[in-house]
Amino acid sequence: VIILASAFAILGEVYGDLLRAAGATERLMELLGTQSPITSPQKPVLSPMPAAGSAIQFEAVTFHYPSRPDTPALAGFSLDIHPGQTVAIVGPSGAGKSTVFQLLLRFYDPQSGNIVLYGTNTRELSLEALRQRIGIVPQDAVIFSSSALENIRYGRPDATDEEVKAAAHAAFAHEFISDLPQGYDTFLGERGLRLSGGQRQRIAIARAMLKNPPLLLLDEATSALDAESERMVQAALESAMRDRTTLVVAHRLATVQKADRILVLDHGQLVEQGTHAELVALGGIYAGLAALQFNV
Ligand code: ATP
Repeated sequence: VIILASAFAILGEVYGDLLRAAGATERLMELLGTQSPITSPQKPVLSPMPAAGSAIQFEAVTFHYPSRPDTPALAGFSLDIHPGQTVAIVGPSGAGKSTVFQLLLRFYDPQSGNIVLYGTNTRELSLEALRQRIGIVPQDAVIFSSSALENIRYGRPDATDEEVKAAAHAAFAHEFISDLPQGYDTFLGERGLRLSGGQRQRIAIARAMLKNPPLLLLDEATSALDAESERMVQAALESAMRDRTTLVVAHRLATVQKADRILVLDHGQLVEQGTHAELVALGGIYAGLAALQFNV
């Protein structure tokens, strides 16, 4: 029981990082002697990534969590994102925004509909290949008890020190790391130096940039940062989104204003879509949300 409790504590600790959590969940399932229902196909498709066509498609996806069979988290949800586009998802709490990410990463399979990555159904890809193509910047990045260098290297364990530092530069993290007492060797985490929210976010962005995936899932933080931190995080995110297909659960005005398209989710359904200006002019759910959240 103690081992399990600590395993759950570890799971909780890394929850923000869905990729690590996925590995932990699989190991936990093994420990418990149960099989995760999500497995790699016997003969996975080695899908090339065509430059043209859609990057991500959800085709009439309906899904309920196993524990809540009567409440669909997504109902007949479709989306189509082209390579290089930035699409923002907004909607009230419980609308299904995080569920879109969970399904895309195949932590669950939908009860009906398809999720297609570069023309291949995600069920036909190996879980490893699928998750390698996707980078995640969670709301609240987990900082491990190790150096700043190792904390970023976690994004791609075989990266050289130079590659780690280049990613830190690109994520606007180099300057603050250089100013730490031992620079990149400074010990972070619970028993080390504590970072601010904005600094933790830039570590998470640096990890994702080091991994260099074609798709980026961004769960924007809701907590307010001071103006300087805000500016740096925004610059880091813009640098990470450049030349990548990005799906972002958006909480910031700057993000929705720059998105190619905004999807508005409500009770698991896509209720509106368009640009910020189009949706404000429409005067519907988005306009109401934007007035509350972004003061427009
Ligand atoms: P928030 O903005 O609060 O994060 P969200 O839009 O991301 O909300 P989801 O987390 O996708 O919403 O949740 C969609 C629905 O599914 C909600 O009704 C939620 O309670 C439910 N749900 C989410 N995760 C689980 C889970 N692991 N098990 C059962 N139900 C869940």
